[in-house]
Amino acid sequence: MRVKLFIISLFSISFIVAITSNHLLIENKTYFIALGLYWLFSTLYSHLAVIVKKGKVSMDYGVTYSLSIGLFAGPLGIFIFETLYRTTVYFIRKFTKTADPDEFLHIFYNIGSFALNSSIAFFIFHKIYPFFDAFPLGYWFVIIILVIIMSLLSDFYLIALFSFMGDIKNIKDAIDFIKSRNVLDMGKIAFSNGLLFMFLLNQQWEMLVGLFLLNYLVSRSFMEKNQSIQHKVERDKFEQMAYTDFLTEVYNRAFMDKTMNELNETGEKIGIIVTDIDSFKRINDTYNHAVGDHVIQHFAATLQGYLREDDYLFRSGGEEFTIFLRNRNYNECVALAERMKDGVRDNPAAAEYKSYPIQIQHTASFGLYYYITCEAVEIKKAYVYADQLLLKAKDMGKNRLISKNGVSDLPLSERFTNN
Ligand code: GH3
Ligand code: MG
Ligand code: MG
Repeated sequence: MRVKLFIISLFSISFIVAITSNHLLIENKTYFIALGLYWLFSTLYSHLAVIVKKGKVSMDYGVTYSLSIGLFAGPLGIFIFETLYRTTVYFIRKFTKTADPDEFLHIFYNIGSFALNSSIAFFIFHKIYPFFDAFPLGYWFVIIILVIIMSLLSDFYLIALFSFMGDIKNIKDAIDFIKSRNVLDMGKIAFSNGLLFMFLLNQQWEMLVGLFLLNYLVSRSFMEKNQSIQHKVERDKFEQMAYTDFLTEVYNRAFMDKTMNELNETGEKIGIIVTDIDSFKRINDTYNHAVGDHVIQHFAATLQGYLREDDYLFRSGGEEFTIFLRNRNYNECVALAERMKDGVRDNPAAAEYKSYPIQIQHTASFGLYYYITCEAVEIKKAYVYADQLLLKAKDMGKNRLISKNGVSDLPLSERFTNN
């Protein structure tokens, strides 16, 4: 209710100012050309406005051309322009179904605040410009001052509105809101409007159209670049999510399949380890699933601690992980797997059970198969071999490593006949 009252008051004041100022300061024909061009280009520009979320409300940040036409045509001229322009935007948004639920109220707010601010700017300009005219760059100084005043005024209205709505609760919120205004945007508004006003005064329509178009093209190309960067960031993030295991944050099975396809063709030597926590069911049964989850997380972190940047660690099953060791010879792989096995045994997982901290000692079994990709064995087969070696380790009493070197010194043709 207070919000509506405030907006209607703002609109009424701007209307009264427009009516009482009584006349257009310039001859009608020039005004209508300016009005047509401003209406066209502001409408064109309106779909480039950047929507910024501030708390519960969203705000448009586009360039606004109100200042220059306001300075040129006075309070009535700006009121007519704002009414025409904002109404058009309203119908476009209704038509394209991009309107906010209370878009209709927004028209009154936008007309009221922009017409009133530009009228105030108009009066100030005519008061102070004669004084600054004498100084070099005095014109630009005045324009910048006007943009700052208009921005502060519109912040002031918005702060009032948001405090009625409860989105701004104290002075600090209000100051943060004012600070969030972009100085570059203000500069863009100042210099666009300063130039436009000069072109209007001299009726340089070609320059005016040129500047409108330049502004549109620059903003549009900026927005498109921005969007494509944004899309790439989102794609990368989704891809990362799609390939990450939620519990342990290591790679998941899907990424393992993708990596296998890639490594299958490299011709490099790889140590494939499949490892699985021993008697894990007992941990789940003795404590609970949450404690079990902690042990799995801890196990993953322990394994990861032994790996280098170019190795891969995947969660290939519940408490089963697969590792691709790269750029190592067979003996190095065996030594590393042995150290991992001992590391798992010697590093109990910390968890909480019935509100007490507990340490869960656990062991794991390891199968290691070492081979050359792209040679005799497909990587999927090599993975099956490593898995079979793991089963052998389980059968032989768990907490151990069984490994096999699939790389022979013999040439490929003799390797199998000799077996
Ligand atoms: P073994 O020594 O032969 O590996 O015996 P095990 O008990 O570890 O093996 P088994 O594969 O029979 O049991 C694995 C259990 O792990 C079964 C399943 O309920 C449990 N499990 C699988 N995924 C998760 C998980 O994400 N969290 C928890 N807490 N348990 C899981
Ligand atoms: Mg197990
Ligand atoms: Mg298992």
